[in-house]
Amino acid sequence: MSKKPKIAMYWASACGGCEVSLANVHEVLLDIDANFELVFCPCLVDGKIKDVEAMDDGELLITFFNGAIRNSENEEMAHLLRKKTKILIAYGACSKDGGIPALANLSSKEELFNTVYINNPSIDNPKGIIPQRVTIVEEGELRIPEFYNKVKSLGQTVDVDYFMPGCPPEPDQLINVVNLVLSGAELPPKGSVIGVGKTTVCEECSRKKSDKKISRIYRTYEIIPDEETCLLEQGIVCMGIATRGGCGGLCPNVNMPCTGCYGPPAGVDDQGAKMIGALGAIIDIAAIKDMPEEDIPDYVDNILKSIPDYAGTFYKFSLATALVNGRVNK
Ligand code: SF4
Repeated sequence: MSKKPKIAMYWASACGGCEVSLANVHEVLLDIDANFELVFCPCLVDGKIKDVEAMDDGELLITFFNGAIRNSENEEMAHLLRKKTKILIAYGACSKDGGIPALANLSSKEELFNTVYINNPSIDNPKGIIPQRVTIVEEGELRIPEFYNKVKSLGQTVDVDYFMPGCPPEPDQLINVVNLVLSGAELPPKGSVIGVGKTTVCEECSRKKSDKKISRIYRTYEIIPDEETCLLEQGIVCMGIATRGGCGGLCPNVNMPCTGCYGPPAGVDDQGAKMIGALGAIIDIAAIKDMPEEDIPDYVDNILKSIPDYAGTFYKFSLATALVNGRVNK
């Protein structure tokens, strides 16, 4: 029997990009293999749930749990892995803040099923069949997990030791965290966001920033931005100011705006609110100097209307942990 510490990586409601970030550590995988036994990682290793159930509590040294909690299976696995793991890490944007799956919190379960299974031009479903928890077939009973009304983050479901944001986290951040645990050095306080920066993407972005004001907002297909000036100052909604650093400004470096995948920076509870505040500060108010007061709301509204999707822009990765974390039904 191997005496190496055991680690796991689990995939809940996610796209698989977090597993790709593990594969992207390239030859460092050999070091990880030399020091750890990867015992459970459904994407890469043939370990079964019953193997995890048979483990002692805390037998897994680290579990990198990626994906949001969308259904009862995700939740059951979160509880099981919490019990069996010493250091549970919410790995990636979906696990940390709900990620893109949490944008579904703006629709009810019925609306989602209707869009996916009924009112959908690519679906041939004349009987309007939607998933049922239990279906009786000739061979017996088929059971599938319960689809929840709301997507939650891992931290809203179980006690989490550390958080690693990113969609996905960068491979070198994974390596740093693994090395930290291997070194035996004192770990950061429980609940810390690890492997990343404390400030914002703007701090890591080399673009020139000035006091420029904007009087309209552009979508990325509408202009070819200049490659040196801050994208926000060119009227493109770049979330860098409201997003935790650590990626090195990957997206602005290739002339694309930051979309916020590292979630809010330290000290910020609500990423979208932070970004809306930043936009308010950059809107050109010189233009309203001589404007009749009653025209000012329309002026501001017209600028903001050029953002087609507020939730998808300001909360693309963090809606589950935002202060208002879904649609509010009156
Ligand atoms: Fe760079 Fe975007 Fe911040 Fe501007 S808003 S400095 S482009 S990260």
